[in-house]
Amino acid sequence: MKSWIDIAPDSDFSLANIPFGIFKTEVNTARVGCAIGDRVVDLKALHVLGYLENLPFELADLDCASLNPIIARGKGPCRELRSRVQKLLRSDVPDLQRKEHHVAQALLPLAEVTMCMPVEIGDYTDFYSSEQHARNVGMMFRDPDNALLPNWKHMPVAYHGRASSVVVSGTPLRRPAGQLRPDPEQPPIYGASRLLDFELEMGFITHPGKPLGETISTAEAEAFIFGLVLFNDWSARDIQKWEYVPLGPFLGKNFGSSISPWVVTLDALNGLRVPGPNQDPKVLPYLEYEGNGHYNVALEVDIVTPEGVATTVSRSNLRHMYWNMQQQLAHHTVGGCNVRGGDLLASGTISGDDEGSYGSMLEISWRGTKPVELADGSTRKFIADGDSVVMRGCGVSAEGERIGFGEVEGTILAH
Ligand code: MN
Repeated sequence: MKSWIDIAPDSDFSLANIPFGIFKTEVNTARVGCAIGDRVVDLKALHVLGYLENLPFELADLDCASLNPIIARGKGPCRELRSRVQKLLRSDVPDLQRKEHHVAQALLPLAEVTMCMPVEIGDYTDFYSSEQHARNVGMMFRDPDNALLPNWKHMPVAYHGRASSVVVSGTPLRRPAGQLRPDPEQPPIYGASRLLDFELEMGFITHPGKPLGETISTAEAEAFIFGLVLFNDWSARDIQKWEYVPLGPFLGKNFGSSISPWVVTLDALNGLRVPGPNQDPKVLPYLEYEGNGHYNVALEVDIVTPEGVATTVSRSNLRHMYWNMQQQLAHHTVGGCNVRGGDLLASGTISGDDEGSYGSMLEISWRGTKPVELADGSTRKFIADGDSVVMRGCGVSAEGERIGFGEVEGTILAH
């Protein structure tokens, strides 16, 4: 499959990708777009120009500041919409490429648009599905000989997070303050977090699920998944440590989480499927699944200093998940909980086996005992004021097509 658009070989946005997002310009209000190479396709313009005929989408669905209306139409229509855009960009399809004045209207340089929050997220759930991450945290905070809690290999453990503070890439976040207990012999104090961390995660966005009281099986799950984003689940470790027993994370997590602006569809990731780990002990029947439900997406994290010096501190991969998305969605709904269109279900921190692949500073600096040296010679145990954290993700299909996510960036402001 080749496009008539010139796409750089290292672009995340190949013709095989076609992710969805929301963009605006100085003259155009926020609307639905797809990325291709270094351009954005304006889907409102395509609709107005008649290129989206015979598809179940109205102009209002595309002239909209969130993807929720198109996500609400379900898997089939979204698949048809993406296929249509992909077809119009193929070099063997003359329809759009031959009409220069239409091309000028419907394709804009990515560098000239502002990316917006892609989805109005109703509910956000955060899993804890990477075994190495759960082991690392268990070893540091509990018992190195029993790092995993007894339930961990029997269910995808999760908590209900906060949707209101999920922000799009490029949105700065202020260092949170709260209760800390730096000296375990003394009472807690109030103050700015000293142990501010990132969590390298990916999240998936759901189509509308089933009514309350019904369940979604692992076999049905992928029909309810629209696509994936990069996700930085910022964490204040000192606030988290003091507050989390017995009901789990609260203020240590709810001050902000950052998502990438482009949602890569599950269809686009099909060529990146890989087998998951052998699950032992055997899971309960409702968590069994068929086929390859894991995905090979290489992930990277950079810390960028206020002076602009970037250092890659982690290289991980989405395939390091113990529990896959089918199992997460089946578990989430097994008690009858409904999911709605635009819900966000995140993976939990994704850590691989070796130190270079850990997905948080907590693990990389091993609770602050191993400071990380950055390219400018400075060191970090956690994230400093003015630092930016940039996460990237990309998979390459057997045909050599890059299916990438772009990046998610966030800067921490002083309290
Ligand atoms: Mn998390």
